[in-house]
Amino acid sequence: MRILVAEDSKFCRHLISRCLKDWGFNFVVANDGLSAWEVLEGAWVPTLALLDWVLPGISGVELCQRIRARVQNEYVYTIVLTAKSDRSDLLAAMEAGADDFLSKPFDPAELKARILAGRRIILLQRELINARESLQFAATHDFMTGLLNRVEIISFLRREIARGRRERRPVALVLVDLDHFKRVNDTFGHSAGDAVLQEIARRFRSGLRVYDGVGRYGGEEFLLILPGCDLDAAMHRANAIRRLIEQDAIVAPQASLTATVSMGVAIANYSRDLSVEALLEKADEALYQAKSNGRNRVECCEMLAVFDPSP
Ligand code: GH3
Ligand code: MG
Ligand code: MG
Ligand code: MG
Repeated sequence: MRILVAEDSKFCRHLISRCLKDWGFNFVVANDGLSAWEVLEGAWVPTLALLDWVLPGISGVELCQRIRARVQNEYVYTIVLTAKSDRSDLLAAMEAGADDFLSKPFDPAELKARILAGRRIILLQRELINARESLQFAATHDFMTGLLNRVEIISFLRREIARGRRERRPVALVLVDLDHFKRVNDTFGHSAGDAVLQEIARRFRSGLRVYDGVGRYGGEEFLLILPGCDLDAAMHRANAIRRLIEQDAIVAPQASLTATVSMGVAIANYSRDLSVEALLEKADEALYQAKSNGRNRVECCEMLAVFDPSP
């Protein structure tokens, strides 16, 4: 836990610093409101702030308001310190966003108790954030490969098509299916099959740019989205990724094998009105062609047929 102490009274500063040091806390001290705000906005972000109410520059209560007005930052637990003891003052501090209030002069044991209570809240809040992030990841990603799940990769495609239309740039779709994957399962077992899917997902990631998208479209089918790629570029890149899959053996539990993939490419072109479903169908037709033409290859759909034929 990182603690910011904002206190203009030399005596209080000294007292608080000594206590925090004795209790083993990591802390910094600011003598006025402006330097406290600088700390709050800097790289060393405090998790708990002990803010004196009356401070030169920016008051402790205004610091609380500023902290709460920020949206992106991690939560800062705030304790306002003051000689004011009126109940309406206490309410004003809490309304400004303070989490706790401590009247001066304070007893060191009480300060410690308040800091420990704050630490519990901070830990609880962190656990909640972690749980929310894990849930969000689980809802949008495929558990086995860590790639986007089917719903998410299709949302990604929709967003990229909208962006491509705005920026007048094409978007390529590459539908990928593993070749003779049933044989891999039959020969080496299902867990070796799973390891192959995981390694292939890793190779996709290593072959893609940060703004490309890749998701698990079905059991052993994947969808790659390559924004800004026209047909030539998409064919070139799809072939590079295809070679990345076949070039090195995949080492799975009790197995070392070479896997290959077939790919079907379709292009969303900004100059026509498109339907995502029609595009996916065209990529699927091209994939079927790649399978029929011998597998471990990339085929593309007929360009005119990519577009939604409806006027
Ligand atoms: P093709 O080249 O025509 O695509 O042949 P294939 O054997 O890959 O195609 P098929 O559709 O007959 O088989 C797909 C196999 O993928 C069958 C299924 O058991 C396997 N599969 C799908 N999802 C998973 C998975 O999560 N783990 C494992 N191990 N296998 C999976
Ligand atoms: Mg003061
Ligand atoms: Mg399949
Ligand atoms: Mg297959």
